[in-house]
Amino acid sequence: MTATAEKREFQAETRRLLDLMIHSLYRHKEIFLRELISNASDALDKLRFEALTKPELMEGDERLKIRLERDGDDHELVVADNGIGMTKDEVIQNLGTIARSGTREFSEKLAQATKDQTNGEALPELIGQFGVGFYSVFMVADEVTVDTRKAGEKDGVRWTSRGDGSYTIEPVAKRDRGTTITLKLKQPLSDETEHDDFTQEWRLREVVRRYSDFVAYPIEMDVEREEKVGDDKKETKKITLTETLNSMKPLWARPISEVKPEEHAEFYKHLTHDWEAPRDTIHFKAEGALEYTALLYIPAHRTHEWADSQHQMKSHLSLYVKRVFIMNDCEELLPVWLRFVRGLVDSSDLPLNVSRETLQHARQMRPMQKKLVGKTLETLRKMLESDRAKYSSFFDDFGAVLKEGIYGDDEFRKDVAGIALFHSTKEDGERTTLKEYVERMPVSQKAIYYISGSDQAAIARSPHLEAFKKRGFEVLLLTDPVDEFAFARLHEFDGRSLKSVERGALDFEPAADSPEAKEREKAREQKKPLAEALKSALGDKVSEVRFGDRLTESVAVLVTEEHGLTPQMLKVLKDAKQDVSEGKRILELNPDHPVVARLEGLKDDSERLGDFAELIYSQALLAEGRPPEDPVRFNQLLTKLMLG
Ligand code: ADP
Ligand code: MG
Repeated sequence: MTATAEKREFQAETRRLLDLMIHSLYRHKEIFLRELISNASDALDKLRFEALTKPELMEGDERLKIRLERDGDDHELVVADNGIGMTKDEVIQNLGTIARSGTREFSEKLAQATKDQTNGEALPELIGQFGVGFYSVFMVADEVTVDTRKAGEKDGVRWTSRGDGSYTIEPVAKRDRGTTITLKLKQPLSDETEHDDFTQEWRLREVVRRYSDFVAYPIEMDVEREEKVGDDKKETKKITLTETLNSMKPLWARPISEVKPEEHAEFYKHLTHDWEAPRDTIHFKAEGALEYTALLYIPAHRTHEWADSQHQMKSHLSLYVKRVFIMNDCEELLPVWLRFVRGLVDSSDLPLNVSRETLQHARQMRPMQKKLVGKTLETLRKMLESDRAKYSSFFDDFGAVLKEGIYGDDEFRKDVAGIALFHSTKEDGERTTLKEYVERMPVSQKAIYYISGSDQAAIARSPHLEAFKKRGFEVLLLTDPVDEFAFARLHEFDGRSLKSVERGALDFEPAADSPEAKEREKAREQKKPLAEALKSALGDKVSEVRFGDRLTESVAVLVTEEHGLTPQMLKVLKDAKQDVSEGKRILELNPDHPVVARLEGLKDDSERLGDFAELIYSQALLAEGRPPEDPVRFNQLLTKLMLG
């Protein structure tokens, strides 16, 4: 430690993670190398990207690479890169705190597993699954030194820590840009084999091949070989060679059938920092007018990172041109409603100097996007058909996002609707596709019916469903905010119109011109004066009071006008801070309810009729899960009623 060194404490959370890392993990230690190489590779990507506009950053040292150096006698291992490097502030930010969401989640799971004795078995597995980042070095090292110099800056920084509560930071003279990480390796315990000796050539070679083969930069190491010398080749001499340990062949460029699922899993983790293998992989080469390779992954779960990217509202494929990384989050490749898809596209038709601006006008992009969307939807459809449980779990995670496509995508609306799942009043409680729903429809049912609200159990009990239950018609229970808006755009499915049970008039059998219907009409005509009396008692609260077919048990229900916004739509718009005004609704009464007969007897007692009208209106609100407009008055009326 020099005079200018500063000692700093780790953030509490980081300290906890380090502690767990050092004390509770004993297998899969080798993944520390995967993490360091992955960071080096990220740093090289960043440099290459910045150098597109600032070529001077690369000057004098243009061969981007990662180097491993080992010293068996001193138990040291060095991982060095000539990438972007870090400034002092960046070192403090990146190596002193847990910035990464994946790491945070890992530390939570780890703490849980440690606390939970029965889970002790799963512990070694955890670490293999997660990308645990830089701190995993403390599984194998007693002391870690990071020397780094940011590209374009003159001064280097040294960060040192023993993985206890603190680290030091000080200036250092560093000749080249990039980062050099030196690990003072723990002495292997006596009962451990050389398996844990990370200065062994074969061990390093094995770990690199296993986890980092596809890294796009050479991972180099010096190896000693014996070479036969002399005229008769009898003498041997030790020579040192620099070898590249990884094949560097980008996974996506290999023949598609050759890539094994494990390789996809490792590559996906490398690409996304996820810790679990993807749920599905889409790997194809487009040939013909437009040539490119696409490698898309559907993640197995929603990560914390996903929660952040939700806000970013953009898709997340990377773009490569002829195997050179161009950009992350290339929005032109996929629409935002497929923002859960990860992966990349490597095009051989775009120019290397393509930028976000020029991409927008590149004629290749539209057909490419169309094909990528088509392939993704096809993969999902196959998953739906072949493995319902798997698809269902996918839909739990990303269904709400996928359904934005029904709302927002004119071209793929129908395809997305075809693979969407919805809850319904169907008895088994399983979700249904629209196609399956249509297949179950009785012949007398003409439309696809739905009701929406945020609470599935509550809408399943809605009085709006009474007439449907009686007829044996299934009703879709829509609970995602996007659903009703999506249905409004979709309009119909398979030739059947989509109809909200809360809206407008219902055209049940018998048809309007049948004798039965005429009979019914006549009966209602007679009740008209009662409806009018109730309307004048309620005044502006409702637009109309009428008798209808919706109810079999309840007295009354509130109906939205044919083209009005339902309560759920209003809620969604208000949550989104839209300025909407609540339209007036229709109070629909059940003509066969005994209370209606009672009301007819009260026609001349306008005070009591008024009280009843208010009570009935409040009940209709309550049935929707909403409070009466004036709860105190509601109570008073109820008391009055009880007292007779
Ligand atoms: P992650 O790589 O997922 O961000 P890590 O814990 O592995 O998390 O690394 C933390 C951060 O430290 C990185 O995001 C990066 O900013 C920085 N970092 C680590 N290693 C290097 C390196 N070799 N060169 C430049 N920056 C690095
Ligand atoms: Mg990392």
